[in-house]
Amino acid sequence: MNEVQDLQVNVVEKPADNATSSKYSRNNPYEATVVINRVLNGVGSDKETRHFAFSLEAGMTYTPGDAVGVIPENRAEAVAEVLGALGFTGEERVLDHFKAEISLEEALRTRLSIGKLTRGSVGQYAKLPGAKGIGGRGFEALQHLCGPENKLHGDEYCWGREFIDLITDFPGAVAEPQELFNVLSRLTPRLYSIASSQLVHPNSVETTVRVVRYDTHGRSRLGVASGQMGERADVGATLPIFLHSNQNFRLPEDPTAPLIMVGPGTGIAPFRAFLEERQAKGDSGDNWLFFGDQHQAYDFLYHEQWIEMQAKGMLTRLDTAFSRDQPQKIYVQDRMRENAAELYAWLQRGAYFYVCGDAMHMAKAVEQALLDAIVKGSGGTPEQAVEYLAKMKKQKRYQRDIY
Ligand SMILES: Cc1cc2nc3c(=O)[nH]c(=O)nc-3n(C[C@H](O)[C@H](O)[C@H](O)COP(=O)(O)OP(=O)(O)OC[C@H]3O[C@@H](n4cnc5c(N)ncnc54)[C@H](O)[C@@H]3O)c2cc1C
Repeated sequence: MNEVQDLQVNVVEKPADNATSSKYSRNNPYEATVVINRVLNGVGSDKETRHFAFSLEAGMTYTPGDAVGVIPENRAEAVAEVLGALGFTGEERVLDHFKAEISLEEALRTRLSIGKLTRGSVGQYAKLPGAKGIGGRGFEALQHLCGPENKLHGDEYCWGREFIDLITDFPGAVAEPQELFNVLSRLTPRLYSIASSQLVHPNSVETTVRVVRYDTHGRSRLGVASGQMGERADVGATLPIFLHSNQNFRLPEDPTAPLIMVGPGTGIAPFRAFLEERQAKGDSGDNWLFFGDQHQAYDFLYHEQWIEMQAKGMLTRLDTAFSRDQPQKIYVQDRMRENAAELYAWLQRGAYFYVCGDAMHMAKAVEQALLDAIVKGSGGTPEQAVEYLAKMKKQKRYQRDIY
């Protein structure tokens, strides 16, 4: 059964908005089974975005707008590389953050962040008693990366590097395995916006995960959690997860309220959940979706579902921006500007405006396009547009889930 068909038949009652997960939590995660893991991009795409579904136990409930937390593990190869560079076997005993005794291998795999390097870790590494013994002018060079006065150098060094780079560039500082707990931060869970409605998928939770892969400083890198999900989470595998409530990203209570949703890339995830939920409930409000990515041919995530929803009149408008399908880059904010008059008309009708995805560039550009649409539509000043948006925020009609 494909997802669109699945959407129409599996509607069940679920408890009200409590978004809790029975006895499970971040500290007591649920060992979920992977029931779907499929690549959403077509052959030829530069991206690897995967649709995941995890099994849930009875009593675990979520609401569109929530996220699922994944407790990741570092790759065995990365752990082995760090152990090799430090000259340890992995069998050494250490005390974890809760003073439980475990092997160093387990600590490096499940407790400590050996991925993305931070200035904090570099600073702590330089403070180890053994750091002074780093050969050549190593200790001096290491110190040049530490402290507030060297912030720029430190940031530059950390960019695109991981712990393995630090111990390869400045070897010999770690004398005792336990010292690693002073140097490395804790391996933390990763959150993924939920991409499903539990009205349609009562026993599972779905997500849209972009696998982070990049090459820097002569090494191929893989995101800890997304890499694990991309490479070591086939259907049938298990992963510890928890449900994470987000009361600040919610569908309107009014089923007739119009929605404008801007979700490029993986930002599309919660809007799949919103639309599935609205469809399942039979909500009559209009729905306008802006989606963007690199290429229409490979990167139009869930397009079959959108086409189906459009045909049914459920998705009132769909505007897409594929940045690399033409010489000049086109983004979702450009589509918003092209449709400024209609966008403002929707806002005047009481539309709720939602943004999800990249916090660094996209969210700011979308906010500016929204302000511009308000100026254009209302004939007011930029200051009045800012006030208009502030009022929308107060009414919970401007909500963001950005990362
Ligand atoms: C509320 C919330 C919702 C989220 N929803 C989603 C979602 O729906 N889908 C999704 O895919 N993600 C989502 N994320 C992001 C997700 O939680 C992870 O941060 C992401 O998957 C990366 O984690 P990772 O462990 O795979 O990578 P990590 O091991 O944490 O590595 C990521 C880091 O690698 C570095 N890096 C990445 N690319 C490059 C590069 N090209 N050059 C140099 N350095 C680079 C950056 O420092 C980056 O921070 C969400 C985050 C939050 C907070």
